[in-house]
Amino acid sequence: MNGKKKDGSDEIKVIEEIVEGYWICPNCNAKNRGAEQQCDACGAIRGADVQFHCDDNAPAITDEAELAKAKAGPDWICPFCDNTSPASSEKCTGCGSARNSGKQRAVKEIPAGGAVPKAGPSQPKAPPPPMPAAFKIGCGIIALLFLIVSFLSCRETPEKIEIIDNQWSRVIERQEYKTLEEKAWQNEVPQAAIRLSSNREKRGDKEIPDGFEDVQETYTEKVKIGEDKVEDGKIDLGNGRFQVKYKMVPKYKEEQRTRTVKKQKFRKEPIYDEMVTYNIDRWIDIAPVELKGTQDEPKWPDPGVIKNTPPKIGDISEKARKEAYMVKVKRLSDGKEYEVKKMRDKELTFDQFMKLRKGTQWEAIFSGLGDLREIKLDPAAK
Ligand SMILES: [Zn+2]
Ligand SMILES: [Zn+2]
Repeated sequence: MNGKKKDGSDEIKVIEEIVEGYWICPNCNAKNRGAEQQCDACGAIRGADVQFHCDDNAPAITDEAELAKAKAGPDWICPFCDNTSPASSEKCTGCGSARNSGKQRAVKEIPAGGAVPKAGPSQPKAPPPPMPAAFKIGCGIIALLFLIVSFLSCRETPEKIEIIDNQWSRVIERQEYKTLEEKAWQNEVPQAAIRLSSNREKRGDKEIPDGFEDVQETYTEKVKIGEDKVEDGKIDLGNGRFQVKYKMVPKYKEEQRTRTVKKQKFRKEPIYDEMVTYNIDRWIDIAPVELKGTQDEPKWPDPGVIKNTPPKIGDISEKARKEAYMVKVKRLSDGKEYEVKKMRDKELTFDQFMKLRKGTQWEAIFSGLGDLREIKLDPAAK
């Protein structure tokens, strides 16, 4: 065993020391050495009731003779005079009576941290600190504002409006079939391509192992810098001495160190490949066509489609159609103007736009925050 555990940390050593305790004279309160049979100050005997105490970090007893006394066993109590005598004495050191019926003082184990705490009703927990008043008020105001906003946005009121302008736009996105000149590595050239030329070019590098080199590497190491001596319980030996158990808890620090390691070296070697230039026919986005208007009926622009099967260079196709409608609205109650592109989050449709002609009047729904939600298009609401 080298004192190391599997995880590399040091085993916690346990050591035991014998130390001398003390006692307080019940007659004159003087502090006396534990082994002393009589009070140094007043001469009173160390009776059976006198308790032994032990200072933290009391010096260990090293003298062989003293150690032998400490280990001899607890003192015994004279039944005639209450004096306590060392285990080695066959006669009472106080009155000289023979030991025969004398009882021994108790040998007591004292756990780490002193006496075992009495089990009792647990302390009631302190109530949590009250919230500061300003914080409560702030929360209240935020909650109130939130309520007002959601109330206003949910509330809907109908009001008369007039359409004052119409705007529409229609766009067709288009593509043209064109011959392009492109380049690609020979394994990536499309099937339909027509090869024009090719060139040998560097396509990349490959890494080739090229021996080893010494590299300095820093690393951290846990270094033991000492031990903390932590008391872990003691035994009152009943004769003025205590046997104290200590755990020797190792202390560490992290240390930066460097070491030399062998590292694989590489050199780069170029890789060459054929870069091919070719022609290929593709559909390419070209300029869209657009029509815009106001009160006139929306129409699609001419996309100028040219179609051949199979496609020929110069053919034009439609890619996508997009339409957008907007009506300008005046609220009759206050003259406020709105641009309406959506109703209830849906884009205006062609049919809706054709009904909402300039100069017509409708009933519209406004939110409590003043947004126009919807124009009532069914005749009943007109
Ligand atoms: Zn005394
Ligand atoms: Zn006696």
